Amino acid sequence: MELKHLNEYRNRDICQKIVKEIRAASRKEIRLMEVCGTHTMSISRNGIQGLLPKTVTLLSGPGCPVCVTAQGEIDGFIKLSKIKGVITTTFGDLLRVPASESSLERERAEGADVRIVYSALDSLEIAENNPGNEVVFLGIGFETTAPTIAAAIIEAEKRGLKNFSVVSANKLVPPVLDVLMKEKRLKLHGLICPGHVSVIIGAQAYIPLAKKYHIPCVVAGFEPVDILQSIHMLVNQIQKGESAVEIAYWRGVTFEGNNRAKDVMNRVFETCDADWRGIGLIPKSGLRLREQFLSFDAEKKFDLSIKETKEPAGCACGEILIGVKSPTECPLFGKTCTPTHPIGPCMVSTEGTCAAYYKYLTPLPL
Ligand code: SF4
Repeated sequence: MELKHLNEYRNRDICQKIVKEIRAASRKEIRLMEVCGTHTMSISRNGIQGLLPKTVTLLSGPGCPVCVTAQGEIDGFIKLSKIKGVITTTFGDLLRVPASESSLERERAEGADVRIVYSALDSLEIAENNPGNEVVFLGIGFETTAPTIAAAIIEAEKRGLKNFSVVSANKLVPPVLDVLMKEKRLKLHGLICPGHVSVIIGAQAYIPLAKKYHIPCVVAGFEPVDILQSIHMLVNQIQKGESAVEIAYWRGVTFEGNNRAKDVMNRVFETCDADWRGIGLIPKSGLRLREQFLSFDAEKKFDLSIKETKEPAGCACGEILIGVKSPTECPLFGKTCTPTHPIGPCMVSTEGTCAAYYKYLTPLPL
């Protein structure tokens, strides 16, 4: 279906037509995972699960960058913010995530210099304007943000900035999908692959996964028509017993991806094992700075040892992130854990599954 304008991607009649096609095509019970947190938000906001036949169940995956950042990493960010003379710069979502004993928001209220930025390049400006301070960027996110962090580091080197560094807690999507495919409790039939990440890595990144596990993968955009189209493509593949990688988001994604962004990312970073909240250590699923750029590594500069720490008591974020529980199965959901008083990151982040359920799927109190 060739559409040109944004309103077409939100058009009710087009959505209904695709839903009809899905209903006609879907005969066996299937479980699809939307990997990306922005998809989770869009699915909840647009009531997409409610439009689908009973045969199709959607599960939310680990695609919220704040949510998958391990508790130990968050504790490390807090330690850093307490160091005298350090300006900690971060994306806004991270500010309210509860660490073991505090949050960046609380540290800021108590006098730490914690600033919200929109990209690592903003932190570079702060470093240039504050030569007497050390400026650290908290690098979380997936392949979408890693190239801009890498570009900021290259730029810092070019400008000779010695007071700028990065904590690299970036994570990679294909390795975590490999782990999910082995999760016996999930039994997935298809993957709705992330749009933003795929702009960088390209749809080809899912081919090994599709081949290894015989699972169809479709890259989706974020509007209701995009998501319904991807579900229709997955249903068709599953009914025919196919396991191909397809794109339902041609206006943003190619099979090859963005080679320039990948080159910048690979010039600065190399893969390393990384700790994921609720999942644990996944081999080669993280990014660390290459030796040539170690002077920009905040962990080394401040001797910051990031240790494994326990998740908040009673919080089911770990199981929610791998799709084996839904937010309403967490006993704290909507009771002690709400967007105003979040206990886990899934309730804080604008891409968190608990936040999406709370905002769009919880009935208003009478
Ligand atoms: Fe964690 Fe709160 Fe979600 Fe429960 S509702 S899993 S406590 S974030």
